[in-house]
Amino acid sequence: MAYIQFLGAAGTVTGSKHLLNVSGDTTGSGIQVLIDCGLFQGQKEWRQHNWGPSPIPPNQIEAIILTHAHLDHCGYIPRLAKQGFNGPIYATPATIDLCGVILPDSGHLQEEDAAYYNKTHSSKHDPALPLYTERDALDCMRLFKPVSMEQVVQLSPKLSFRFVRAAHIMGSGMAEITCTDGPSPRKMLFTGDIGRVRDSQVAPGKVVYAGPYEGEAVDLLVMESTYGNRLHPTTDPRPELAKTIKDTVARGGTTVVPAFAVERTQKFLFMLKDLMETGQIPRVPVHFDSPMAIKAIEIFLKHTEEYSEEAKALIQKYGSPLKWENYFFDTKQEDSKKINDSHFPQIIVSSSGMATGGRVLHHLLHRLSDPKNTILFIGFQAPGTRGATIKSGARSVKIFNQDVVIRAHVVSIEQFSDHADTPELLEWLRTFKKAPQVTYLVHGEPAASSQLRLAMTSALGWKVEAAQWMQKVEVK
Ligand SMILES: [Zn+2]
Repeated sequence: MAYIQFLGAAGTVTGSKHLLNVSGDTTGSGIQVLIDCGLFQGQKEWRQHNWGPSPIPPNQIEAIILTHAHLDHCGYIPRLAKQGFNGPIYATPATIDLCGVILPDSGHLQEEDAAYYNKTHSSKHDPALPLYTERDALDCMRLFKPVSMEQVVQLSPKLSFRFVRAAHIMGSGMAEITCTDGPSPRKMLFTGDIGRVRDSQVAPGKVVYAGPYEGEAVDLLVMESTYGNRLHPTTDPRPELAKTIKDTVARGGTTVVPAFAVERTQKFLFMLKDLMETGQIPRVPVHFDSPMAIKAIEIFLKHTEEYSEEAKALIQKYGSPLKWENYFFDTKQEDSKKINDSHFPQIIVSSSGMATGGRVLHHLLHRLSDPKNTILFIGFQAPGTRGATIKSGARSVKIFNQDVVIRAHVVSIEQFSDHADTPELLEWLRTFKKAPQVTYLVHGEPAASSQLRLAMTSALGWKVEAAQWMQKVEVK
């Protein structure tokens, strides 16, 4: 018998970790594979699970199949490796390149945070320790094994898998797993995060391959539900983006964009460039302030196999962002500090995207209290993060243990999302050749999962359940 256990991203959007146990029993014997190995972020009740012992002894996990390079899917890998995991981590070449910068950066940020807490004695833990270090993250890169899209990998005599396109971020793939330990083969699909469907119309400017893999026929589906209770606007984001920047420049202010360094940021940069070149926004300096900014762009330019037609055309037209005039890719901390001291209008794009850490915190600290400035969100803000607090209209937010008053304009442009919303998910599910016996919804707040469950049962008549944290379900 085989079972799946949901070790994360069940009842919340972060910490994706799904254990597949084949040919064993519920005591934990058999072959165990982990699909994704993400960090919990946001609310403390979830974050504290990063610190506990792994619920499954790490040396009993045979392999990890990694759907994509976002931290809530890969950010726990160095910790698991530190605790004894030593198996292969299967991922696409683009995902591996991205993890090569994202994981060490995550380790680096955790070391910086721990050092800050120790300097200010502001943590109840003495000494405060990083979850893992930059070194730990670099060490675990040796475990990664590249797998091309749709290449079949045999994990054991009874278990194989392949990646199919998820169209979420560069390199993202769904894990389609085939298990032959029963009387007939069973197919499972773990979606990871699902990109926009037919996004040339609903998500202009998307740079990577458009639309998830269609025509699936699986027995069991484990699917994300981040946008299960919300709809993306289907209008072109460019007019609102141009107005936001023009208004901020007219006030003499700076636009701060908390953004993760990959995919969406490249899309955003090309959009800014296009708006400037066509005279729709003034030519103000653009600072891309992230220690991995240059590497992220180099990886983006390298993986041409991932481009949409629109991205190909933009790159042909404008070339590498690293060569654009008035665009600065600041990688050293001194350069980052110089931006703080400048007061002319400019645009600062800096990570992390949910303002949970990274250099954007310094920019927010300097710019939040001035009504001339704008904080522009282009990504999902998980509950409990600073980004969610700022976006909610709060009067102040805590940064480095200071209460910072929010007087800056706060704007959120939702079209940049890399997640399909409910109508798009239903459109994709309708391409399935048969209904799965059961679908488990993960990676969503409870309200989002339950609304998507209702939408799927009424529109498709499928059997759908919201996965519970630590729940074990049998693969029939
Ligand atoms: Zn993601």
